[in-house]
Amino acid sequence: MPIAGSEIVKLLPKTKGCRDCGFPTCFAFAMKLASGGATADKCPYLSEETKAKIVDLLAPPMKLVTIGSEESKVQVGNEEVIYRHEKSYIHPPGIALLISDKESAAITDQKIKKIKDLQFPWVGVNLKADLLALYFESGDKDKFLSLVNKVYQSSNLGLILISEDMDALFSARDICADRQPLLYPITEENVEAAIPKIKQHPTPIGIRGDSIESLVPLTTKLKEAGIEDVVLDPGSKNTLEAIRDQTFIRRAAIKQGFRPLGYPTIAFPCFMANDGLKEVMVASAFINKFAGIIVLSDFDRFSLLPILVQRLNIYTDPRFPMAVEEKYYEVGEPNEYSPVLVTSNWALTYFLVSSAVESTKIPAYICVKESEGLGVLTAWAAGKFSGDSVGALIKKSGIADRVKHRKLVIPGKVARIKGELEDALNLEWEIIVGPKETTGLGVFLPEFAKTLKG
Ligand code: SF4
Repeated sequence: MPIAGSEIVKLLPKTKGCRDCGFPTCFAFAMKLASGGATADKCPYLSEETKAKIVDLLAPPMKLVTIGSEESKVQVGNEEVIYRHEKSYIHPPGIALLISDKESAAITDQKIKKIKDLQFPWVGVNLKADLLALYFESGDKDKFLSLVNKVYQSSNLGLILISEDMDALFSARDICADRQPLLYPITEENVEAAIPKIKQHPTPIGIRGDSIESLVPLTTKLKEAGIEDVVLDPGSKNTLEAIRDQTFIRRAAIKQGFRPLGYPTIAFPCFMANDGLKEVMVASAFINKFAGIIVLSDFDRFSLLPILVQRLNIYTDPRFPMAVEEKYYEVGEPNEYSPVLVTSNWALTYFLVSSAVESTKIPAYICVKESEGLGVLTAWAAGKFSGDSVGALIKKSGIADRVKHRKLVIPGKVARIKGELEDALNLEWEIIVGPKETTGLGVFLPEFAKTLKG
C-alpha cells in the first residue's frame, strides 16, 4: 500500500522551510519521499530512529527476494497489486524441479539434464524452469550432501535446500553458499537455533508455519535479527486452503500494508498432488494465485510448456504489447544469397513471420523494425513503419555486409512504402513486395530464393 506524503510529513521536523534538504518546505520534501524521488537522509534534522521509520514506511509492500548466483538468479516478490489489470505483476514465480536424495543417481542425472534441455524459445523470450529443489528424504546426511555437491557441480541453477534436519541443511548450505540457495524450512521450533547460522552466511530462507497467523511471530523475530530475505509457507493442507492462504497473504501485504506478511510465498504442488496431471493443475492455480516459487516433483515437455506459457501470459505487462528487439535475425543458417525480409517488432508478428519462413526450410534474414510493439499495418498507419524509417534500419543494421544481393522483401500490406524506401536506400536496393499474409510466404519464398541464387 503506497504511503502518502501527508503521512510522512507527520514525522518531519516541520520547520518553516530551512531548505537544507533542497526542498522549499517539509511538505514538499515529504511528497518527494513518497514518490521515491528523495531519500530520508537528505534532512539533517531527523533522528536515526525516525529515518529508519521512514525507510520502513517507504519500503515496497512485499520484499524482493533473490535466489541463485548472478548469472542464474531468480527474483520473486516486490509485487504491488492484487489484480494484474490494476498495473502488472512484476516477478514471475520461479518453477523448481524437486530431486530427492532417495531417487537413484540415474534419475538425478535425468532430472538435471531435463531442466537444462527443456527450454522453449517463444516470441522473443526463452521459457524454462528456473530452480532445482534438493530434498533430504533418505535420513542419510552423507547421501544428501553428496546430492547437493553433485548438483552444485553439474548445474548453475539456483537451488532450494529442503531438510528438516538443521545440521544437514546448514552443511548443505555451506557447499553452495555462493549460489545463494533458499533454505527450507525454518520453523517455530528451529528458528532460535537457525538465526545465528543464517547470519554466518546470509542466504534466503523459507519459513513454514501451520497457519498464516503462525508466520507472523516468525517473520517478526527474523526481522528483529536483521533477516528479511524470507519466503512464506503457511502450511496449507490442500489446494483450497492454499489458494485461500495465498490470497490472504497477498491482500494483507498489498492492501493492508501488513509488514509481517509482506514477503513472497513458496508452494509445493509436489507434496499436494499424487498424480502428474493434478500436480500441473495445482501449479497452474498457484501461478494465478500469487505463489512466488512453485516446486514440482517432475515434468516433461507436455506438462511444463503449458505452465510456462501461462506464467508468461499472466506476468506480461498488459499495458505494453510484447515486442522483440530491433535488429536482424537469422532463421536457419542463412548465407550471402539468402532472402532478406523486413517486418515490425510486435512479438506476434515476428513469431508468425519467422515460423512461416522456418516452415519453408529456406534460411533467411528477418530485419525487425522497432515500431512500439505494433503490427505492420497499424505501425505504418501510426508512422512507425515508413519507408524512411525502414531505410534507416537497413542502413544501420549491417545486413548489407551479410548478403551479396540487394533485394529486400517488404510485407504486401505496406506496398505503398516501396518508392519512399527505394529513395531512402538511394536506389541501391530493389524493393520486392512480398505476400500480404504470412501464409503466402510458403509459396513466395522458395521461388524468390531461386532468383537470388541465379
Ligand atoms: Fe524540513 Fe528537514 Fe527539509 Fe528542513 S531539511 S525543510 S526540516 S525536511
